Amino acid sequence: MTLKNRLGKFIVISGPSGVGKGTICNILLSKKENNLSYSISMTTRKKRIYEKNGVDYYFTSRDNFKKRILNNEFLEYNLYNKEYYGTLKTEVLDKINKGINVISELDVNGAEKIKNNFKDCILIYITAPNIEELRRRLIKRGTENKEEIEQRLKIAIYEEKEKINYDYVIMNDNLEIAIEKIQIIIKNFLIDK
Ligand code: 5GP
Repeated sequence: MTLKNRLGKFIVISGPSGVGKGTICNILLSKKENNLSYSISMTTRKKRIYEKNGVDYYFTSRDNFKKRILNNEFLEYNLYNKEYYGTLKTEVLDKINKGINVISELDVNGAEKIKNNFKDCILIYITAPNIEELRRRLIKRGTENKEEIEQRLKIAIYEEKEKINYDYVIMNDNLEIAIEKIQIIIKNFLIDK
Protein backbone atom coordinates (compact mmCIF):
# COMPACT_ATOMS: atom_id res chain seq x y z
CA MET A 1 0.00 0.00 0.00
CA THR A 2 1.38 3.41 -0.94
CA LEU A 3 1.43 6.29 1.50
CA LYS A 4 -1.22 8.06 -0.61
CA ASN A 5 -3.98 5.52 -0.14
CA ARG A 6 -3.03 4.32 3.32
CA LEU A 7 -6.07 4.21 5.59
CA GLY A 8 -5.93 5.35 9.18
CA LYS A 9 -6.09 2.77 11.96
CA PHE A 10 -8.43 2.54 14.92
CA ILE A 11 -7.16 2.31 18.50
CA VAL A 12 -9.73 1.55 21.19
CA ILE A 13 -9.01 2.17 24.87
CA SER A 14 -11.34 0.59 27.42
CA GLY A 15 -11.26 -0.06 31.12
CA PRO A 16 -13.25 0.52 34.29
CA SER A 17 -14.30 3.94 35.46
CA GLY A 18 -11.47 5.69 37.30
CA VAL A 19 -8.69 3.60 35.78
CA GLY A 20 -7.12 6.59 34.02
CA LYS A 21 -8.22 6.14 30.39
CA GLY A 22 -8.58 9.90 29.85
CA THR A 23 -5.12 10.70 31.19
CA ILE A 24 -3.58 7.93 29.09
CA CYS A 25 -5.37 9.08 25.91
CA ASN A 26 -4.27 12.68 26.45
CA ILE A 27 -0.63 11.64 26.79
CA LEU A 28 -0.82 9.47 23.66
CA LEU A 29 -2.52 12.30 21.74
CA SER A 30 0.19 14.76 22.76
CA LYS A 31 2.86 12.67 20.99
CA LYS A 32 2.97 14.00 17.42
CA GLU A 33 4.63 10.87 16.02
CA ASN A 34 1.47 8.86 16.80
CA ASN A 35 -0.54 10.94 14.30
CA LEU A 36 -3.62 10.35 16.44
CA SER A 37 -6.96 12.09 16.42
CA TYR A 38 -9.43 11.65 19.27
CA SER A 39 -12.93 10.49 18.37
CA ILE A 40 -15.17 12.71 20.49
CA SER A 41 -18.17 10.65 21.55
CA MET A 42 -21.68 11.92 22.04
CA THR A 43 -23.35 11.34 25.40
CA THR A 44 -26.50 12.13 27.34
CA ARG A 45 -24.73 12.10 30.70
CA LYS A 46 -24.22 15.33 32.62
CA LYS A 47 -21.07 17.31 31.91
CA ARG A 48 -18.46 17.24 34.68
CA ILE A 49 -17.27 20.62 35.87
CA TYR A 50 -13.84 20.34 34.19
CA GLU A 51 -15.19 18.93 30.90
CA LYS A 52 -15.75 20.97 27.75
CA ASN A 53 -18.52 20.39 25.24
CA GLY A 54 -17.01 19.47 21.87
CA VAL A 55 -13.68 18.56 23.47
CA ASP A 56 -14.34 15.77 25.96
CA TYR A 57 -17.77 14.84 24.61
CA TYR A 58 -20.62 16.26 22.62
CA PHE A 59 -23.16 16.57 25.42
CA THR A 60 -26.73 16.30 24.26
CA SER A 61 -30.30 15.47 25.28
CA ARG A 62 -31.84 12.01 25.10
CA ASP A 63 -34.24 13.23 22.41
CA ASN A 64 -31.42 14.47 20.22
CA PHE A 65 -29.43 11.27 20.77
CA LYS A 66 -32.43 9.13 19.79
CA LYS A 67 -33.00 11.24 16.66
CA ARG A 68 -29.41 10.62 15.65
CA ILE A 69 -29.84 6.89 16.20
CA LEU A 70 -32.79 6.94 13.80
CA ASN A 71 -30.72 8.99 11.32
CA ASN A 72 -28.10 6.24 11.43
CA GLU A 73 -25.40 8.71 12.56
CA PHE A 74 -23.56 6.35 14.91
CA LEU A 75 -20.96 3.72 14.16
CA GLU A 76 -21.93 2.24 17.51
CA TYR A 77 -23.74 3.36 20.63
CA ASN A 78 -24.55 1.89 24.00
CA LEU A 79 -26.22 2.53 27.31
CA TYR A 80 -23.73 2.79 30.17
CA ASN A 81 -25.10 3.42 33.66
CA LYS A 82 -28.46 4.42 32.11
CA GLU A 83 -26.93 7.09 29.83
CA TYR A 84 -26.32 6.91 26.08
CA TYR A 85 -22.80 7.04 24.65
CA GLY A 86 -22.06 6.77 20.95
CA THR A 87 -19.38 7.09 18.29
CA LEU A 88 -20.40 9.44 15.50
CA LYS A 89 -19.54 8.39 11.95
CA THR A 90 -18.44 12.00 11.29
CA GLU A 91 -15.78 11.66 14.01
CA VAL A 92 -14.17 8.61 12.45
CA LEU A 93 -14.81 7.80 8.79
CA ASP A 94 -13.35 10.95 7.18
CA LYS A 95 -10.21 10.71 9.30
CA ILE A 96 -9.67 7.01 8.57
CA ASN A 97 -10.11 7.68 4.83
CA LYS A 98 -7.55 10.48 5.03
CA GLY A 99 -5.00 8.17 6.69
CA ILE A 100 -5.37 9.69 10.15
CA ASN A 101 -5.27 7.24 13.05
CA VAL A 102 -8.21 7.46 15.43
CA ILE A 103 -8.17 6.77 19.16
CA SER A 104 -11.36 6.34 21.14
CA GLU A 105 -12.43 5.52 24.69
CA LEU A 106 -15.22 2.97 24.54
CA ASP A 107 -16.95 0.62 26.93
CA VAL A 108 -16.59 -3.12 26.33
CA ASN A 109 -19.71 -3.32 24.14
CA GLY A 110 -18.60 -0.45 21.92
CA ALA A 111 -15.14 -1.98 21.59
CA GLU A 112 -16.60 -5.27 20.39
CA LYS A 113 -18.73 -3.51 17.76
CA ILE A 114 -15.77 -1.53 16.43
CA LYS A 115 -13.64 -4.69 16.31
CA ASN A 116 -16.28 -6.35 14.16
CA ASN A 117 -16.42 -3.42 11.74
CA PHE A 118 -12.81 -2.32 11.33
CA LYS A 119 -10.08 -4.62 10.14
CA ASP A 120 -7.24 -2.34 11.18
CA CYS A 121 -8.25 -1.97 14.79
CA ILE A 122 -6.56 -2.72 18.09
CA LEU A 123 -8.28 -3.08 21.45
CA ILE A 124 -6.37 -2.14 24.60
CA TYR A 125 -7.89 -2.71 28.02
CA ILE A 126 -6.54 -0.72 30.99
CA THR A 127 -6.95 -2.39 34.33
CA ALA A 128 -6.34 -1.42 37.97
CA PRO A 129 -4.88 -3.52 40.81
CA ASN A 130 -8.32 -4.08 42.39
CA ILE A 131 -11.81 -2.65 42.95
CA GLU A 132 -10.76 -0.93 46.18
CA GLU A 133 -8.15 1.05 44.28
CA LEU A 134 -10.76 2.08 41.69
CA ARG A 135 -13.12 3.15 44.49
CA ARG A 136 -10.31 5.22 46.02
CA ARG A 137 -9.56 6.91 42.67
CA LEU A 138 -13.24 7.67 41.99
CA ILE A 139 -13.73 9.16 45.46
CA LYS A 140 -10.61 11.27 44.91
CA ARG A 141 -11.89 12.41 41.48
CA GLY A 142 -15.05 13.61 43.21
CA THR A 143 -17.24 13.76 40.09
CA GLU A 144 -19.82 11.15 41.16
CA ASN A 145 -21.78 10.70 44.35
CA LYS A 146 -21.45 7.57 46.51
CA GLU A 147 -24.33 5.77 44.81
CA GLU A 148 -23.02 6.52 41.30
CA ILE A 149 -19.56 5.34 42.29
CA GLU A 150 -20.98 2.01 43.48
CA GLN A 151 -22.94 1.68 40.21
CA ARG A 152 -19.75 2.29 38.23
CA LEU A 153 -17.86 -0.25 40.31
CA LYS A 154 -20.56 -2.86 39.62
CA ILE A 155 -20.13 -2.24 35.90
CA ALA A 156 -16.34 -2.49 36.40
CA ILE A 157 -16.72 -6.04 37.74
CA TYR A 158 -18.61 -7.01 34.56
CA GLU A 159 -16.07 -5.20 32.34
CA GLU A 160 -13.12 -6.95 33.97
CA LYS A 161 -14.59 -10.30 32.85
CA GLU A 162 -14.64 -9.06 29.25
CA LYS A 163 -10.97 -8.09 29.14
CA ILE A 164 -10.09 -11.52 27.73
CA ASN A 165 -11.53 -10.33 24.40
CA TYR A 166 -8.92 -7.56 24.11
CA ASP A 167 -5.66 -7.64 22.17
CA TYR A 168 -3.76 -6.26 25.17
CA VAL A 169 -4.45 -5.78 28.88
CA ILE A 170 -2.30 -3.14 30.59
CA MET A 171 -2.13 -2.60 34.35
CA ASN A 172 -2.20 1.06 35.36
CA ASP A 173 -0.67 1.06 38.83
CA ASN A 174 2.21 3.19 37.59
CA LEU A 175 1.22 5.69 34.88
CA GLU A 176 4.70 6.06 33.40
CA ILE A 177 5.16 2.30 32.98
CA ALA A 178 1.65 1.87 31.58
CA ILE A 179 2.28 4.62 29.01
CA GLU A 180 5.61 3.10 28.03
CA LYS A 181 3.96 -0.27 27.35
CA ILE A 182 1.02 1.21 25.44
CA GLN A 183 3.36 3.37 23.39
CA ILE A 184 5.29 0.26 22.26
CA ILE A 185 2.04 -1.52 21.34
CA ILE A 186 0.80 1.48 19.36
CA LYS A 187 4.12 2.05 17.61
CA ASN A 188 4.16 -1.57 16.40
CA PHE A 189 0.52 -1.41 15.38
CA LEU A 190 0.95 1.79 13.39
CA ILE A 191 3.92 0.54 11.37
CA ASP A 192 2.72 -0.23 7.84
CA LYS A 193 3.22 -3.89 7.09
P1 5GP B 1 -17.63 8.36 31.45
O1 5GP B 1 -19.03 8.69 31.87
O2 5GP B 1 -16.79 7.89 32.60
O3 5GP B 1 -16.97 9.44 30.64
O4 5GP B 1 -17.74 7.11 30.46
C1 5GP B 1 -18.43 5.96 30.82
C2 5GP B 1 -18.06 4.83 29.89
O5 5GP B 1 -18.53 5.09 28.56
C3 5GP B 1 -16.56 4.59 29.76
O6 5GP B 1 -16.33 3.18 29.79
C4 5GP B 1 -16.24 5.15 28.40
O7 5GP B 1 -15.12 4.53 27.81
C5 5GP B 1 -17.50 4.78 27.65
N1 5GP B 1 -17.72 5.53 26.41
C6 5GP B 1 -17.36 6.81 26.14
N2 5GP B 1 -17.72 7.13 24.90
C7 5GP B 1 -18.31 6.03 24.36
C8 5GP B 1 -18.88 5.74 23.08
O8 5GP B 1 -18.93 6.54 22.17
N3 5GP B 1 -19.40 4.50 22.92
C9 5GP B 1 -19.37 3.55 23.90
N4 5GP B 1 -19.88 2.36 23.61
N5 5GP B 1 -18.84 3.79 25.11
C10 5GP B 1 -18.31 5.02 25.33
